Amino acid sequence: MKAATRYSHSFPKLACPGGQDGIIISTNKLNRVVNVDVENRRMTVESGVLVGDLINEAARNGLALSQTPNWWGLTVAGLLATGAHGSSLWGKGGAVHEYVVSMRIVTPATAEEGYAKVRSLSESDEELDAAKVSLGVLGVVSQVTFEVEPMFKRAITYVTKSDADLGDELIRFGKEHEFADLSWYPSQKKAAFRIDDRVPFNRPGDGLSNILAYRSAPSAQLTTIRGTEELREATRDAKGKCLDAQMDIRTAETSAYGFTNNGANFTGYPVIGQNNRLQSSGPCLDSKEDALLTVCPWDSRFQLAFYHDTTFTISLSNVSSFIKDVQKLVELEPRALCGVDLYEGFHLRYIKASSAYLGRTKDSVDFDILYYRSKDPLAPRLFEDILEEIEQIGLFKYGGLPHWGKNRNLAFNGVIKKYPNASKFVSVKRKYDPQGLFSNEWTDQILGLRKDATIMRDGCALEGLCICSEDRHCAPTKKYYCRPGKVYKEARVCAFEG
Ligand SMILES: Cc1cc2nc3c(=O)[nH]c(=O)nc-3n(C[C@H](O)[C@H](O)[C@H](O)COP(=O)(O)OP(=O)(O)OC[C@H]3O[C@@H](n4cnc5c(N)ncnc54)[C@H](O)[C@@H]3O)c2cc1C
Repeated sequence: MKAATRYSHSFPKLACPGGQDGIIISTNKLNRVVNVDVENRRMTVESGVLVGDLINEAARNGLALSQTPNWWGLTVAGLLATGAHGSSLWGKGGAVHEYVVSMRIVTPATAEEGYAKVRSLSESDEELDAAKVSLGVLGVVSQVTFEVEPMFKRAITYVTKSDADLGDELIRFGKEHEFADLSWYPSQKKAAFRIDDRVPFNRPGDGLSNILAYRSAPSAQLTTIRGTEELREATRDAKGKCLDAQMDIRTAETSAYGFTNNGANFTGYPVIGQNNRLQSSGPCLDSKEDALLTVCPWDSRFQLAFYHDTTFTISLSNVSSFIKDVQKLVELEPRALCGVDLYEGFHLRYIKASSAYLGRTKDSVDFDILYYRSKDPLAPRLFEDILEEIEQIGLFKYGGLPHWGKNRNLAFNGVIKKYPNASKFVSVKRKYDPQGLFSNEWTDQILGLRKDATIMRDGCALEGLCICSEDRHCAPTKKYYCRPGKVYKEARVCAFEG
């Protein structure tokens, strides 16, 4: 049994009930704002409310939820279940669950209790630390109360600089700017720093975020983009990918990454506007049904944007070394990461340590890396080895914590051992749902209750189902063999030897 939303945005099988006869409980109509308490700065919503509706309803009451993910279409319960976040090292930090003050959750119960028990958890209940980031395994979250604050304005300026000192600059940048955020383009050796701070409410400006990737796009255009990418992969045209990436980055820079000063045009930095207009966007959510002439880029009816999303948080004490390792790989293979730059580079955001049992254990930087995925699971990618090595450096050399709602199977190998409070989480799960009605094979695997999520078979490393240990886990007939990493010798990656 799984609670799910109208459209699951999670990459792993979190929202799938196991087997053939599972039940999905839809939260599609659990979408009301229950209460807005302006005086005490609290807002209670049902769990299926979307990010866009949450922040805009708060704004109508002069309130702001300072941190959210940047896509309107996620639901309150879905994003909390996976520990989703915006970006900040200030105050309570970037993770949305840090702003939860109480929750109502419906858990299974005995026949005498009427089969269901409604549990209300407040800040004084330790179990709230399990429920805030729950992977959906405790029961159905029905209501959530957030701590909100009076609406405020932010000013955003992008500055693009060489990445030569990025490893050293990153922590200072995060501490200096409340909503700091970066796009790093390793193959171009530069990074776009988003200087993003609170400003007095009387500063003029009605800025709006209209992120390029979240606008609906003509399906014909998306088909051409995907076709070009597939062709470059098939012909091993790394140079072509680098040229495409340069053009994409220039387009992003000149269009101010989708920010406008007034909802229509970009006239220059800083972009100043209310928090709700800048923190998140999603116009394609409201785009009209036009016989699929235009679609959200990731619309599953087309699979035009088909990619892997490797995302992990690395503690502040390790980020500089991680960045330097990636830079060493770029020195060895200058074109290797152009494919990532086609997906807006590495997206870096800040998150603080949390008391949530499955939240981040230290103040960290989140690295979000999107890259090409073939529709043929046995087809290797260009520079397969370099991205696999970066994935293993982040997750295993530096102990990165994988985002629960993203990533490929290998990222979750032994993951639960990285959480000192994992056993407390499992105790709450056993108390709330002793029969595991809300668990599936995947959640048992990542919680360490079954053998891990690795799947060993021919070609398994290509899709991230395993880390290769033999050539057959790569694609030996296509000249991809299992080899040690170039910088992190303990890594095992599928390398092309043509
Ligand atoms: C376009 C896009 C943008 C994204 N942006 C960000 C971002 O900026 N920051 C970030 O951190 N992440 C981001 N993500 C990842 C996203 O936050 C997670 O995948 C999130 O879980 C998705 O929310 P959802 O509402 O689709 O939940 P689902 O994928 O439907 O569900 C996630 C989990 O929550 C459980 N669940 C759902 N509702 C309930 C309920 N009522 N009670 C109990 N359990 C429930 C499900 O069973 C499942 O286990 C993004 C993903 C996409 C595709």
